[in-house]
Amino acid sequence: MSETHELILEAKHVTKKYPASGGKTLVANRDISLNMYRGRTLGIVGESGCGKSTFMRMVASLEKPDQGEILYRGKDMGKLKGEALRQHRQNIQMVFQDPSAAFSPRMRVMDIVCEPLLNFKRIRKKEKEAAARKLLEMVELPEDFIWRHPHNMSGGQRQRVGIARALALEPEIIICDEATSALDVSVQKTVIELLVRLQKEKNIAYGFICHDIALVQSVAHQVAVMYLGNIMEVLPGERIGKESLHPYTQALMGAVFDLHMDFDEPIKSIEGEAPSPLNIPEGCPFQNRCRQCMEICRKIKPALKNISEDHQVACHLYERKNCFFHRNPL
Ligand code: ADP
Ligand code: MG
Repeated sequence: MSETHELILEAKHVTKKYPASGGKTLVANRDISLNMYRGRTLGIVGESGCGKSTFMRMVASLEKPDQGEILYRGKDMGKLKGEALRQHRQNIQMVFQDPSAAFSPRMRVMDIVCEPLLNFKRIRKKEKEAAARKLLEMVELPEDFIWRHPHNMSGGQRQRVGIARALALEPEIIICDEATSALDVSVQKTVIELLVRLQKEKNIAYGFICHDIALVQSVAHQVAVMYLGNIMEVLPGERIGKESLHPYTQALMGAVFDLHMDFDEPIKSIEGEAPSPLNIPEGCPFQNRCRQCMEICRKIKPALKNISEDHQVACHLYERKNCFFHRNPL
């Protein structure tokens, strides 16, 4: 991937902490290093609360890392301030799960999709209607929807409005934070098809956050699996089914075959409960739920190591030097 695709964003050893009650500190992201490439999708998957949104908020410069840096085209975004930061925000836009929550109910679709263009003085007021029609065409909505209010639209149509708004400034990166999670499966499919078409046409990089590993593996070129703020495994989406190595990734895949899965509930194919994010044990964060837990896993946290050029895993099972895929005989 690195040789054939243009690198646009590099997160390097990013850590984000939040103050929690009782004077404690919650580590929402720990030492995360990930890259994003032009025209490619980076998926992030993991259970609710594992730190997916925190990471992407930093990518979008809505928050700053406590440690580490995020480089956009080689420049550290953490150092940007004021007008330079405001201008940079045009490069990275976001689509959320429920876009209508972000819009005032009084706003018409035309006002919603054109707001970023007016904020950045890309158009004049009299050009609004034409710009809105063009944006709705891109997301395959009827042009006369520009006069509608979001509450008079279906969930899928509202999500297309959210995508049109994100497209308005022609960003290089769009973050989709559970953008299709609330939609029915059939509607979800059409919105994903739209995102894929737009990516091909405009060479957009997506940061695709999703708690559903089945969905993320089908859309993401590269998938990062997160658990309690840590990256457990990174590998191409199309290879997760056959080549995932981490017991946590495999457990998530197992849950895909559970017809009644709900990722906000503890995953049934994984024993035990996730520890509190305020009380992560020493060693591997997944140790208390891992069927293959060894003595070393309780003491030393496994580092994320290269299995191959585009596959990394943080697990003591695969740490023996020069012996990929062979399990560590402890
Ligand atoms: P995800 O998107 O994977 O569900 P988040 O990134 O939203 O997870 O949250 C990761 C952890 O950080 C959670 O334990 C959450 O409660 C905590 N968290 C997120 N944002 C804040 C905040 N602004 N203040 C305090 N804790 C936060
Ligand atoms: Mg989230």
